[in-house]
Amino acid sequence: MSKQYETVIGLEVHVELASKTKIFCGCSTAFGGAPNTHTCPVCTGMPGSLPVLNKQVVEYAVAVGLATNCTINQNCKFDRKNYFYPDNPQNYQISQLYQPVCINGGVEITTEAGKKTVRIHEIHMEEDAGKLVHDDWEDCSLVDFNRSGVPLIEIVSEPDMRSAEEVIAYLEKLRQTIQYLGASDCKLNEGSMRADVNLSVREAGSETFGTRTETKNLNSFKAIARAIEAERERQIDLLESGEAVIQETRRWDDTKEYSYAMRSKEDAQDYRYFPDPDLVPIIISDEWIAKIKENQPEFREQKMLRYKEEYDLPDYDIDQITQSKKMADIFEAAVAICNNPKKVSNWLMVETMRLLKEHDMEPEDLSFSPENLAKLISLTDSKAINSNVAKEVFEKIFEEDIDPERYVEEHGLKAVNDEGELRSVVERVIAANPKSVEDYHNGKTKAIGFLVGQTMKEMKGKANPGMINDLLKELL
Ligand code: ADP
Ligand code: ZN
Ligand code: MG
Repeated sequence: MSKQYETVIGLEVHVELASKTKIFCGCSTAFGGAPNTHTCPVCTGMPGSLPVLNKQVVEYAVAVGLATNCTINQNCKFDRKNYFYPDNPQNYQISQLYQPVCINGGVEITTEAGKKTVRIHEIHMEEDAGKLVHDDWEDCSLVDFNRSGVPLIEIVSEPDMRSAEEVIAYLEKLRQTIQYLGASDCKLNEGSMRADVNLSVREAGSETFGTRTETKNLNSFKAIARAIEAERERQIDLLESGEAVIQETRRWDDTKEYSYAMRSKEDAQDYRYFPDPDLVPIIISDEWIAKIKENQPEFREQKMLRYKEEYDLPDYDIDQITQSKKMADIFEAAVAICNNPKKVSNWLMVETMRLLKEHDMEPEDLSFSPENLAKLISLTDSKAINSNVAKEVFEKIFEEDIDPERYVEEHGLKAVNDEGELRSVVERVIAANPKSVEDYHNGKTKAIGFLVGQTMKEMKGKANPGMINDLLKELL
């Protein structure tokens, strides 16, 4: 390949909003639930039923728009997007085409190359569709309308991204912002955040965009990165062999690491959009916007500055802890109890991160209470348990949120800090290992490590290593 190519990417990101009820009816939005139990005539598209807009949905959409530097469209309305599909009982989706709630925003992302702004074309509100379940056993398809009418916002970016790294940074930024707002939990694996990747390639230096494809069904950041690489290569191969890229929607299969054409790209006109006659325009007053602004939380950037001032932590720690609101909340609550920011930070950055990875979980899934972490820190501070035992107990806190004081008591994990008892064990270990003692006296200082280990073994891991060391030095 002789030519250099540049990748051009724009994203359409759907986010399920955290409102308790659906966008146009009072049904629950809870995930799970037996099929078709969170339904009513409105969200199953019964003739004659009428939608009533959920005010909370507008508030979340405006809050996300403000946090991503958008202009709020103070006079917005809903449109019908007409199409047939069995998971869409009305034969249209209520969405926004002409007057979306937020326009012309952007967020700043940071990558290896530095800072850059990704512009947001618009954010619009819409309703989710139901879910088809294909039952191969019975050779039929079933439909569950529990998700039908769950509120979504769709965040449409400009084609400003040039690599998978920028795409991930942009998505992380959106996710962080929306999680900080509490507007959604943004879980890619559960579908509460879904990103469709529009991608084209062009020769480096070219001013015009190439023909793009849209790739769907991406359930993780890793899948997104893989799909981008694969689609970039597929398009370059086509161009290199003199063929044209066809504008189409493709579906990614992450296990096969391959995408296939799903349908040719449809235009807005294919959907015969028209204003929904059942819903009145939404007037978003200055006062309402001001109120939503007033209720915005402390975002990550502000939080980072405050942590620096208030807790005097290294920048690295602050960067790690504030990446998720959930983790930052645990941090603040635990520090409020034990007043030891650096120790809390260490537990979060090292063991918590390790266990999250091991369990394939995200920080938002953390469920242990800050009180229990604070108690664990007190137990180590007072030398009631040693650091190995502390790690073991922390795993239990992480997994089951156990009370560490009670757990240590019940499992007899208290460190033995009684010098008399420890001294007699050390004496026994010295007597039983004359070779190591001799090595030690011949200048092999490492031999003491072996003796510490032997003593610890005798004490079933419950001794204080510093104390063993001191005793050994004294007795040798
Ligand atoms: P449509 O009206 O067909 O949905 P849009 O212009 O609204 O198309 O763009 C949809 C998404 O595709 C946006 O995120 C946009 O940034 C992106 N996009 C548009 N053109 C290109 C292109 N040539 N290459 C990559 N992405 C593109
Ligand atoms: Zn309903
Ligand atoms: Mg569009």
